[in-house]
Amino acid sequence: MKRLESAGLAWYRFESWPQVQHGVFTRRGGCSPPPWETLNTGGNIGDRPQRVRSNHERIFDALEVNERRACTVWQVHSADIVLAQGPVRGRRWLAKADGMLTAETDTPLVMRFADCVPLLFYDPVQLIIGMAHAGWRGTVADIAGRMVRLMVDAWGSQPQEIQAGIGPSIGQNCYQVGEEVVEAVQRRCGTLSGLVQRDPTDGSAWLDLWACNRLLLERAGVRQIEVAGLCTACHLDEFYSHRAEGGRTGRFCAVISL
Ligand SMILES: [Zn+2]
Repeated sequence: MKRLESAGLAWYRFESWPQVQHGVFTRRGGCSPPPWETLNTGGNIGDRPQRVRSNHERIFDALEVNERRACTVWQVHSADIVLAQGPVRGRRWLAKADGMLTAETDTPLVMRFADCVPLLFYDPVQLIIGMAHAGWRGTVADIAGRMVRLMVDAWGSQPQEIQAGIGPSIGQNCYQVGEEVVEAVQRRCGTLSGLVQRDPTDGSAWLDLWACNRLLLERAGVRQIEVAGLCTACHLDEFYSHRAEGGRTGRFCAVISL
């Protein structure tokens, strides 16, 4: 990904997507104090609502997208996906879900992260964008493949035309998982090769969420995949990490808009 800066904010964009407005924002340039310092966008983790609102405004201004048309979901580690047509009157989120897709222009999709994988989608032929939130649960529920199949079913996208981006999230070297997670990966993927690594000394298991999502995207027919390769737990100066910060942290923001 390419790193950009403006007005104290810093964000990353996928290098293969010059045509679509998007960014995965770092934690820099916001107004929240520790432990959410500084550009926290998480709304129910103790930070004050007016600070969270102000941080969102800074993000929409930096990216020059329409805040009034922004759509988001209440993220619940599911594989449920909503088709976004615009904000719903009277509430801040469309539904409890972990994926959004839209063909609407000027309708930014917004989600929040702190180790889970931001998956971004762009079909330059049908002009569809999407975003998903994939922790291990969403990953093994194949939210990546479900996003692709919904683009195919709803708009006639061709998987080989779809571009997918795997954003900053916890890397394999920092992501030890339990045996129930290993079993779920085995069930979904039919293999652990290249996905889970065992420590030769203690047998502990370490999951590669980037490789897992890449595999599931490829199985859904996607050929154009860019992986950020940025670990949130290794870069606490730029990102929030639920794992590395013991749960006392904020949420960084990803935005995409046609
Ligand atoms: Zn790391």
